[in-house]
Amino acid sequence: LEVTLAILDSGTIVAVATAEGRGGLAVVRLSGPEALAIAGRILPDTTLAEPVTSHLARLATVHWPDGGPDHHGLDAGTNLDQVLVLPMLAPNSFTGEDTVEFSCHGGALPARQVAAACRAAGARAAGPGEFSRRAFLNGRLTLDQAEAVADLIDAEHSVGARAALSQLRGSLDRELTSIENPLRTLLARLEGAMEFSEDEADVPAPESVHAVLGEARDRITGLLDLVPAGRHLRDGVQVVLVGPPNVGKSSLMNALLDRPRAIVDSEPGTTRDVVTDRLELDGLLFVLHDTAGVHEAATGVEAQGVVRTRDALTRADIVLAVATSTDAADDVAFPEAAEGSIMIPVLTKGDLFAGDTGAGLVTSAVTGQGLDELKRVLVEVALAGGLAEATARGLVLNDRHQDRLLACRDSLDELLSAEDAGDEVVASLLAVTLQELGAISGRVFTEKLLDELFGRFCVGK
Ligand code: GDP
Repeated sequence: LEVTLAILDSGTIVAVATAEGRGGLAVVRLSGPEALAIAGRILPDTTLAEPVTSHLARLATVHWPDGGPDHHGLDAGTNLDQVLVLPMLAPNSFTGEDTVEFSCHGGALPARQVAAACRAAGARAAGPGEFSRRAFLNGRLTLDQAEAVADLIDAEHSVGARAALSQLRGSLDRELTSIENPLRTLLARLEGAMEFSEDEADVPAPESVHAVLGEARDRITGLLDLVPAGRHLRDGVQVVLVGPPNVGKSSLMNALLDRPRAIVDSEPGTTRDVVTDRLELDGLLFVLHDTAGVHEAATGVEAQGVVRTRDALTRADIVLAVATSTDAADDVAFPEAAEGSIMIPVLTKGDLFAGDTGAGLVTSAVTGQGLDELKRVLVEVALAGGLAEATARGLVLNDRHQDRLLACRDSLDELLSAEDAGDEVVASLLAVTLQELGAISGRVFTEKLLDELFGRFCVGK
């Protein structure tokens, strides 16, 4: 029952939509069937005169409503803030409902009071992601677009933000639709063939069925290949520095960041915990992890550091395998890289060693030698790992998409191997595949999925 209520709850909701803290403006969002009436109760009579013109902003003073519950001793009519009122009539708003946005003066208080006045006038406080959820339920936004909104809010670097924006504009939905359409046509033909007798029906030839399914499978595999890039766009490319103690890992990290972050010491084994920092290169986000290194003799605190190093290595996209260039070529022993990660051998202290061992990229934290080259290589490796394609196609895939795509591919595989299954079996498996695909954009959804997805959003979004 609760589930149904949540879908049907179409009350009018309100929240401060901007982040807490000092700023020039703070925006309050009010959305739902009563939005105009509620706004009317906290604004002077003339502000939202009937008929209300959508998308026309007006300056007005918000006051505490008549008959509203006592709120920190505010009396009816107390002026709260001078605001810009922007009514947006259904369906032409973010949520698809009647919406009123109030641009209040910055600082937490005015916006909070305006939101409280809306509640006193009949609105209720919005839950996390409730505006986006309504936008989805009203067909204004697909699920992957809603996720893109969240990614855009979180994006700390330009490339990730551009990709999220493009997904918001429908790039993933278009990809999925173009995979779905031939499958839908095929399903319709199979269903047709089942209904009519052999000679009347347009029975699809087995080869053409196979071709359509195979094409869909390839396209889905292509999307799955972009899942790591989606993670890189959201969370950054994980770069782990490993190597024996004292080879200059911390110095290299500081030199790459161009600021002291990791502790540098001439005593071996200084860095015990994993030190993490962010580095933006060419608009891409890299997360550097300086580790204790992996060496077998470690005991006590140092041994714990080694455990953490191994842990960091399991999540690495790129491993910078660090050794000193003073080592003779034969002595350079690079650690084993985690499966799926790319290893870049880097030699440090190039200023102390003139020769080129050829075993890796020679750098120096002292002279800056090799650092630009190393940054260039990092970007190149990251782009080669699908980032370039994901950004060009504007796709930021996440774990949820991956699960659905894998399920889809499994059912396509099942279809492809069920060569001599009857049309009926093929048709029902195909319907399942289409459901899995539809779940990505939300053409097919469950309440639980919406709770999980929008629950992660902030209030006001
Ligand atoms: P880590 O234990 O691998 O993190 O190594 P550190 O970065 O703490 O450096 C160990 C020692 O090597 C310190 O005394 C550093 O000053 C020195 N060192 C690090 N990088 C360089 C370099 O490029 N050139 C020179 N000459 N010394 C370096």
